[in-house]
Order: sequence, then C-alpha cells, then structure tokens
Amino acid sequence: MSGGMRLSRAVEAIPPSGIRQFFDVVSRMEDVISLGVGEPDYGTAWRVREAAIYGLERGRTTYTGNSGLLDLRRAIAAALGDQYGLWYDPERELLITVGVSEGLDLALRALLDPGDEVLILDPSYVAYPPCVSLAGGVPVWTPAHAEDRFVPRPDELERRTTPRTRALLLNYPGNPTGAVPTRAELEAIAAVVRRHDLVVISDEIYDRLSYDAPHVPFATLPGMLERTLLLNGFSKTYGMTGWRVGYAAGPAPLIGAMTRIHQYTALCASRQAQEAAIEALRVPEREIQATVDDYALRRQAIVSGLNRIGLACHMPAGAFYAFPSIAATGLDAHEFATRLLHEARVALVPGDAFGPGGAGHVRCAYATSLPQIEEAIARIDRFLDRLGASRAPEVVEAAALSAD
Ligand code: PLP
Repeated sequence: MSGGMRLSRAVEAIPPSGIRQFFDVVSRMEDVISLGVGEPDYGTAWRVREAAIYGLERGRTTYTGNSGLLDLRRAIAAALGDQYGLWYDPERELLITVGVSEGLDLALRALLDPGDEVLILDPSYVAYPPCVSLAGGVPVWTPAHAEDRFVPRPDELERRTTPRTRALLLNYPGNPTGAVPTRAELEAIAAVVRRHDLVVISDEIYDRLSYDAPHVPFATLPGMLERTLLLNGFSKTYGMTGWRVGYAAGPAPLIGAMTRIHQYTALCASRQAQEAAIEALRVPEREIQATVDDYALRRQAIVSGLNRIGLACHMPAGAFYAFPSIAATGLDAHEFATRLLHEARVALVPGDAFGPGGAGHVRCAYATSLPQIEEAIARIDRFLDRLGASRAPEVVEAAALSAD
C-alpha cells in the first residue's frame, strides 16, 4: 500500500474509504443515477457566491485570525442564540474550522490521550473511527438498532463505558440512518454522560433537516452545555460542501485547546469561505424552509417507493438519507450495491461502510430531484425482478415517534 516507503503505523492501519473506491468506479460510468454521495443538489445561493466574489474584488485575499473572522463568529453566536437559546461567547467559545471535518479532528486531538476510548454509534458517519484512531484513541462501537429507529439504548452505552472512556460521539439527525432521538431519549443518554463524566462531541451538521420535530441541540439539555462540543457547518444547509467552512462551539478551555492545534495545522479557514458564510447566515428563513420542505417531499417519495418495491425502509426523521434493509434479497450489502450499479445503473452505498451494524442495509441519499428518485426506484424494482428476489413487507411506522 505504501509503495516501499515506510509510513506511520497509525495511517497504515486505516482502511481506505469504501465509499470513495466505489464512487471512483461510478464516476467512470455513464447514465448512472447516484443516490450515493451526501451532497445537496441545488448548489450555493447566488447571493452567497457574490459575497465571496465581492471580497475577492476588494482584494480581501489574506489570512484571517486563527479563530476566524470575528464578524462570522458573532453572526453564528447570534444565530445559535436566536434559534436554540444557546448563547456562546464569540471571542472565547467559538472557532471557525475547515468544515465539521476539521472540527472533529481538532476535538479528538485536543481531548484524547493514547488509549482513551470514544463511544461511536454503529452505524455512523464513516470518518468517526479513523479520526479517533488517528488521534491515538480507541473507537468503541455501540449498536443502534433498526427496531429502535437507530437510536442507541442507554443500557448499551452504559455497558460499553469503561474507566478509559473519554467521550461520546453523537450525530443527529444522523448519517447514514436519518435517526433523530426524541428529547426523552436524549435525556436518557445525557444521564449516562453525567454518570460517567463524559464529554459529548455532537455533530449537528443536519440540524436544519429535522422533519418531524424541532431539532434539540445536545448542549441545551440540563447540565450538558459545559460538557458538550457542538460541531456544525455550512456544507449541508447552505449547499456549500466545496467551500470547506464550519465551526465548533463549546467550553472555552476546549475551544482554546483546539485553536492551539488549528493555528499550527490549518492557520485559518479560507477567507472567501468565511465571508460567504456570513452571507449564508443572512439567507431568509423562508428560503431555508423551502429547501427543507423540498427534502421532506423527496423523503416521502423515496421511502414509500422503497417500501412499495419490497425494500423495507423506516421513515428517517432527518438528514437526507434512507437506510432500507436489503436482507430479503439474500444478497449482502456489497454484492447488492455492486450488482445494482453494474446491472441497473443506480449507485448507493453498502450499509456496512458505516460500521458492522449497517450490514444488511444500503444508504440512499435523496439529495437529488424527484424524477431521478422515481427513476432510481423503477430501476431497482426491475433489478429485483431479474434477481427473482423475495420482497419484504412494507414497514409500518409506529405511532408519532416525534412526540416528546
Ligand atoms: N459529519 C457528518 C455526519 C457528515 O455526513 C458529513 C458529510 O457528509 C460531515 C460531517 C462533513 O462535513 P463538512 O463538509 O462540514 O466537513
């Protein structure tokens, strides 16, 4: 793998991303409908692009301070305060990062000593285990079951907590499952956190994409503000994946430690991206809501379509991913995804890319247009016909799960 050059053992131990390999193949194929990558299809609003262009025209091409533009930190603090009643000090409790990705890496490096354990839900976002390992920590999978809407059980979290457990990594609305715990479920998780004196790294990048109930930031739960690091960014809500800008909000000592690493490794996030992010926060609420409403329609279309053709799928409460079971087909997730790609030209991601608990599922991103979603469903249906696969009965949702 290293081509003869000796590389660090930590890096050698990290498997290449299954998703990347798969999508390298997809990019070389024609007429593929991709339900693969979690990337909003509508791009960045023009007013946001113009803010960056304007800054460039004015010659604003320098570094910013390590913590990021104070105007951006103030705008984020005001938005979090107005929206969630979370009031962070923009000077000491906020850091602008190169996306949530950098915030995650900084947080883990600032918190972990070698061998410290981090609880990670299984399945969850592909970057979590390698980032923990690269920071010298040990990722510890905690199952989140389909029958629990992929919300972890407090007793399972408790069972995996040891004296070495330092942090719990949460992500809701979740990738790849779309899971959103109720407030009561979050409070039960918070009780475990309190009992074992853990830090919570809460990746809330899909906070605006919670369809059935208002988003509850973990830091708003009683006693959690002082032990929670909130990570968020502009990639998903504002269609800004390529700009690479996000933020971390949390206790001043942790933000200070993260800033010390960031000042030597990234220096600062791109100035143009930061200026664009200030403008993004001025996008009227009704425009954001229109996007969310559009995703809600796509969610309905994909989930009912998948169930109709016999791939049992729970209704995800947030994000833009459906996570149907393919168990009834008799194929494993990898075989299913590979054959579907080559035989029916639909790309989706094998569920076990997100942890062993994802086996038997595939992830379908529905950040694509309704006609594309419908065509993808029709192609999968024909593929199942040719396969002679048995079909699962439709998932009937339990009562209103979002009720707190
Ligand atoms: N966290 C989750 C849960 C994600 O799904 C993604 C991207 O798909 C990221 C973080 C990466 O975010 P960013 O673009 O802000 O680095």
